[in-house]
Amino acid sequence: MTVPAFLHPFTPPTREAFLSIVRGEGSLVYDASGKDYVDAMASLWYCNVGHGHPVVVEAIRSQAERLASYHCYAPFTNPAADALATEIAARAPFPDARVFFTSSGSEAIDAAIKIARIAHEQAGAPHRDGIASRDKGYHGVTFGGTSAQGLPPNQVGFGPLVPGIVQIDQHDPDALETLFATRGDTLAAVITEPVQCAGGVHPAAPGYLARLRALCDAHGVLLIFDEVVTGFGRLGTWFGSEAVGVTPDLITFAKAVTSGYVPLGGVIVGPKVRAMLEAEPGWILRHGHTYSGHPLACAAGLACLEVAAQQDLLARAPEIGARLVAGLDLFVNQGRLAGHRGAGAVRAAILPSGIGAEPTRDALLDEGVIVRPIGDVLAICPPLVITDGEIDRVLAAFDAALPHA
Ligand code: PLP
Repeated sequence: MTVPAFLHPFTPPTREAFLSIVRGEGSLVYDASGKDYVDAMASLWYCNVGHGHPVVVEAIRSQAERLASYHCYAPFTNPAADALATEIAARAPFPDARVFFTSSGSEAIDAAIKIARIAHEQAGAPHRDGIASRDKGYHGVTFGGTSAQGLPPNQVGFGPLVPGIVQIDQHDPDALETLFATRGDTLAAVITEPVQCAGGVHPAAPGYLARLRALCDAHGVLLIFDEVVTGFGRLGTWFGSEAVGVTPDLITFAKAVTSGYVPLGGVIVGPKVRAMLEAEPGWILRHGHTYSGHPLACAAGLACLEVAAQQDLLARAPEIGARLVAGLDLFVNQGRLAGHRGAGAVRAAILPSGIGAEPTRDALLDEGVIVRPIGDVLAICPPLVITDGEIDRVLAAFDAALPHA
């Protein structure tokens, strides 16, 4: 065996064997041998409407026929980008939102950081260029996101990171107050996920995000919520900020906005930042991508919103969460799991010490269920179209894969 030509993301370059996924339908995906798997990770936290949804497929097909792509630098725009921005703005947790489009979550993070810094510059406070983020946060892999994330192994060896980004230790009870007391007048923004997902599924401690909001307000610092996973229904609301009851100034999104059918990400800009960006007529926001507002991606986004409404997917998220919680509780009571945590339809099953996450993931794969190992947990983040029967299949696979206590 030799390594394939495809150099895989977040994978040892020496790895030779891969599981080729060739087809998907609803919450199921199929490998080349025809074996089916319940996709209990919605691919990589994103496929909320499930695989192969005919409404999304048809929207992409018909948009490709009309206009597959055209850029949106002034003076150009396209109906799909305008319509999706309007729909997203209408669902934002703040009034008068505008939407900046990227093609990935990482690009959305860099856009939010740059927008926060340039907004302060435009407001006459160019010294406000600091960014703070929390440990265990995952904010993608561009240099901004690599610098902002709180998972040190992902930062090692890539040379100098972006200066001016500091990390908040969320286990130090005084860290927030210390940060604002020492740097509150030079920070542009604080960035955090409402529920940290890729770092191991960690909901924020009660009151933490409200305290963060209050400190940002008191010190003139913008609050960015990274909703790349929590946006578009994962917590049972359009945005996680509603679920946690705290309203940020900027929201990054990606993943479930199109359920991954076509890559799309972006930043929702709230009224405070809008006012800063729009103060000077004719000033140019010199940030954007060739594919910002890509019509095919935006058509997929509109179709996903239609599916979410048709199939009432926001209401389904807490039901999925409750069924998973009931099933995982049984394993905890049997001493086969050390616990579980999460919110809405995203959970982490915490393995007892001595039980490896990767071997257990592999045992679940044998049972036809895909979960994701992160440290000592297995993450579960299924499509919001998953049926009760499929959730029970996930739980049955855990029953088969977890050793008896
Ligand atoms: N932010 C969060 C919270 C994420 O979970 C991710 C990806 O998992 C990203 C940003 C980066 O998104 P992408 O992989 O699309 O660049």
